[in-house]
This record gives sequence, structure tokens and C-alpha cells, in this order.
Amino acid sequence: MNVPADKETPKPSNFLRQVIERDLDQGTYAQRHWGGSPGDAAHHEAGQRDPARIRTRFPPEPNGYLHVGHAKSICLNFGLARDYGGVCHMRFDDTNPEKEDQEYVNSILDAVKWLGFSWDANGTSHLYHASDYFDFMYRAAEYLIEAGLAYVDEQSAEDMRYNRGDFSKVGTNSPFRSRSIDENLQRFRDMQGGKLADGAAVLRAKIDMGSPNINLRDPALYRIRRATHHNTGDKWCIYPMYTYAHPIEDALENITHSICTLEFEDQRPFYDWLLDRLGEGGLTNQPHPRQYEFARLNLTYVITSKRKLKQLVDEKHVSGWDDPRMPTIVGLRRRGYTPESLQLFAERIGVTKSDSWIDYSTLEGALRDDLDPKAPRAMAVLQPLKLVITNWDAVMGAGKLDDCSAPLYPQHPDVARRKFKFGRELWIERTDYEEVPPKGYNRLFPGNKVRLKYGHVIICSGATKDVNGNVTEVQAVLIPDTKSGSPGASAIKVKGVITWVAVADALKAEVRLYDRLFAVPQPDTTEKDFLEELNPDSLKVVQGYVEPSLASAKGDDRFQFERHGYFVADRVEHAQGKPVFNRVAGMKDSWAK
Ligand code: ATP
Ligand code: MG
Repeated sequence: MNVPADKETPKPSNFLRQVIERDLDQGTYAQRHWGGSPGDAAHHEAGQRDPARIRTRFPPEPNGYLHVGHAKSICLNFGLARDYGGVCHMRFDDTNPEKEDQEYVNSILDAVKWLGFSWDANGTSHLYHASDYFDFMYRAAEYLIEAGLAYVDEQSAEDMRYNRGDFSKVGTNSPFRSRSIDENLQRFRDMQGGKLADGAAVLRAKIDMGSPNINLRDPALYRIRRATHHNTGDKWCIYPMYTYAHPIEDALENITHSICTLEFEDQRPFYDWLLDRLGEGGLTNQPHPRQYEFARLNLTYVITSKRKLKQLVDEKHVSGWDDPRMPTIVGLRRRGYTPESLQLFAERIGVTKSDSWIDYSTLEGALRDDLDPKAPRAMAVLQPLKLVITNWDAVMGAGKLDDCSAPLYPQHPDVARRKFKFGRELWIERTDYEEVPPKGYNRLFPGNKVRLKYGHVIICSGATKDVNGNVTEVQAVLIPDTKSGSPGASAIKVKGVITWVAVADALKAEVRLYDRLFAVPQPDTTEKDFLEELNPDSLKVVQGYVEPSLASAKGDDRFQFERHGYFVADRVEHAQGKPVFNRVAGMKDSWAK
């Protein structure tokens, strides 16, 4: 077995790692050359032995924002290249002229970089555009025609569909299938030269209309489409079909392992057919790339269809592509997910050959495991209720504030401490007081003792209510000599410890409590309109108070609010003096079955 030297910790194996290790063992691609840039067989032959042991690629169509499923694909492709001394290419699959947008291109590059990956390797930027290969694709098409392997079909779309047959019926040869090579070449040049109307003809591979695999029944290679392309302008009025373009893109880039989702499994025989033929003709490098399929990510409580995510944005069901509830990478980022947590998530879910749903709690679990050791702690009160220490002036002195401190990182209590005040008036959580305590309730109720975390022990003496019976203030008496950390502090035993902030130094903050975007675990899988499955309570905004240590928080800074979970300063709307925090995830999984 080849064990890469730069591997830090052993990663759990999976079928893709096994394929790669086998190829490295057998030296499947060891003799290939790399021309320094994508190109045909001659271009690569003139170059050096390929310095990359494997080449993978991430090939999004720039027609939307990337989502958590793409994050899986990015971590997989870039991760495998990193682990096996290879290179992963960033490729825009922009062969479809209609759907491009620079906004999407920029956001995709940002997302890949933010996730922690780079397409720079061996001094080269491996950022490519499939549309740069149009000339070669055209040349390859003429080659296939000349080799008797492709023909121009001018059947109506209806006849073509009918003659393709279906699973129970073999196809029927097109009357145009037996055209001469010269006539095919002439007609293809007519297509390319704009002499035929959109849809009047297609170039098809000549394979087998009787194949049990419908994808091999003379698949279309080129169609006529008068559309301006963002890269090539009006140079072309014919465009390659995805199934033709993709294998060629891989071959020109010297890709070794072309990893895609399971729905392309039936395309694999054509992928191999095409690259075998182009290889035989000396056009593309050999041995050619191989396609491997893995199960796409389905994550519960969200959807991962670009088109439907766009609908949520366009119809304003969310505030934008980066709404913290969105499963887009920009949304997850604004929500507070870290690149490391998404990498950890991708690693944990692994790759399989069969479709399944991953529970959303797996994503949150990865976030907690990543942030637990590194997020500074702070106290926050999200539903504030005032607590008054009635004997404060007598015991501590009128107007006096007491200094308290707590570790920023509980695993490293000595690294750094945060400081805050204790005073006569404090904010506590509304749920931490009950006039009549339910069974097992250890927090504040008349007569009960609790510790205010990092502060003093108090005994509850009562509460004030408004005319509607709502509690407006809780009163308590401080028990002297019980301050956390002071000698004898633990002499008085309490069952409950609550979090708090002092009225004197707490900061007002807007806190956005995000929850699942959809109310059902597998949205958009039934007859029901997916919009009706949106969770109406996916966002709750509260005005709370946070510890003064958060005064210097900057956008993207993440914290654990003790007892409440993980929070991030909103990267768009947070400002010092006007803090806005987003809940990334609660402390524990409250959704587990
Ligand atoms: P479209 O609907 O536009 O075709 P797509 O999801 O196929 O959307 P692409 O931009 O073509 O998006 O995807 C880029 C890469 O990301 C592809 O290699 C694809 O296999 C992978 N990918 C997309 N969605 C998922 C997913 N849910 N899980 C894993 N990989 C995915
Ligand atoms: Mg796609």
C-alpha cells in the first residue's frame, strides 16, 4: 500500500481512497506527462512527467450559490488531492451559454477559499473554464465524424425522441444515420457556420440504438443554439452537450479520478466510450480519466436544489443567499459555521454508494466539537428579568460593584480571564424564576438558594408582579462569604447554578435565535409544495444582555454563551456599540429523536 508521506492523521478509508491507493500502487497514471496547462495529447506529451500523483476537479456550473452538498464535494475532491500528493482543479463548467453570472463565479471562488482550499499547486493556478475548450471539442467532433463515429441527425425532435425507444423498447436507427462521412462533415460545418436554424439538427455519436443503456443510443454531442456566451461571445452558434463536454474537460486537464454524484452512473459507459475513441485517435492523453460516483448529500430540514434555493431568495422567504438559515455556504458562514466544522462534517459523513439522508444534528455536532475547545466563553441573558439583591447596600456598601472573573477557555483556565461586575441589580433569565417550582426545579423560587455562576450564593425572597400577574422583578438576599473562588465559598451547598449579567456593565444586544429552515425532516419529497413545509419559527429575535467582555467582538467572532450554545457576531449587521449575535447551534442536540 502506498501511504502518502504528508498524511497527518489516518483518515477512515472509503471506496474512493481504495481506488486511488490501488491506482498509485499499480502506477496507473505514473507515466503520464503534463504540459503545464490543459491540452491535447501532443501538448501533454511535450511536457514533464506529471508532478501531481492524482488530479481531481471541482466543476460547478456558475448558475447559483454553492450549498452544503457542494461543500461535501469540495472537501472530497480537494481533500483527496491533498492527502495523496495530488492537485485539485477548480473548473467552471460554463458550456451552457444561458445561465452565467459573474456574481456566482465570485461567490464560488470565495466559498472554496473560505473552506480552506486552494487550486494553486506546483507554482500554477489550476483555475480553468470549460468554455476555453470549445475549439478542441469542435475538433474532436470533426474527428469522430471522420472516423465514422458521429453523424448529423435532422430528424424532428419528436421523431428523435420516439426512435430512441425506452427501457422496454429498443431504438430505431435514424434515416440520417447512414449518411456519408463527407456529407456529415459538410452538414456539421453548416451547423457551425449558422446555416441551420436552432434545433434543426444535432450531431450524434454513432454507437448502438439497440443498447440496453439508453445513454448509448446515439447520444447527442452538439446542438444549435444562438446564444451569446459570457466568454466566447457570438463565436459559436453550436454548443456541446454536457455529456460530451465533461469527459473531454477531464481528459484535457489530465484528471485521473473524476468524482461525481450517482445520477451520472449510467453515463459512465459513454464517458469511457468517448475517451477511448479520442485516445485511439491520438487526440487526448492516455490512460484516460475514470469516473467514480458517490451518493449526493441530503441533509434533513434543508433542501439542496439550487433552483429551489433561488426561489426562496427571489420570493423573499429568506433575506438573501446568505440568510443564516440557508444551507448555502455563504449562509452557513454567516450563521457561524467554521470551515473546520464543515470539513469535519464532510469527513464524518464519508462517501458511500447509496443515497441516504444525513441528520442535521451531525452538522451541529461537528460545529460543537470544533468550537468547544476554541470558542471563548461569555454569559448572556436572552430573556431578561431583573433580580434585586435587597441586602446589597448593607452587606457590600451602597453603590458598590464587586469584581468577578471567569476563564475565557475552561479547558485552559489560566490562559486568559474575562472580567465583569456583580452589583445590586442583575439580569437573569426569565425561566430561572418560578413562583411555584415544578418538581425537580432547582433554580430561583421563594426560599431557595442558588449560586450566581462566578459570583455569590443568594436566597430568593420573593418577586413583584404587574397587574396582569407577570413577574417584573425578583428579589433575593446575598449570603456573605460565598463568592466563587474565595476560601469557604463552597461551605454553603446549592443545587442550582444560574447565569446572569450585571445591570451596571452588561451590554444590550440583539440576539437572533435561528432554527431549522423547514419543519419536516425531508422537505420537498412529497406531493406537498415545499414552501408549505417552511418552519414558521425559524427565526426569533430577542433583545438580551451580554457580558462586557463582548464589547470588542468583531463580525465573525464566535463564542459559547454559557448554557445557551454557540453564537457568532453577525458578519453583516454586527457593530461595536450595536451588537448583533446569531445562534449557530444550541449546547445540546434538542432535535435528536
Ligand atoms: P445543477 O442543478 O445546477 O446541475 P448541481 O447540484 O449539479 O446543480 P453543479 O454546479 O453542477 O451543481 O455541481 C458541482 C459539483 O458539486 C458536481 O460535481 C456535483 O456532483 C457536486 N454536488 C452538487 N450537489 C451535491 C450534493 N448534494 N452532494 C454532493 N455533491 C454535490
Ligand atoms: Mg450539475
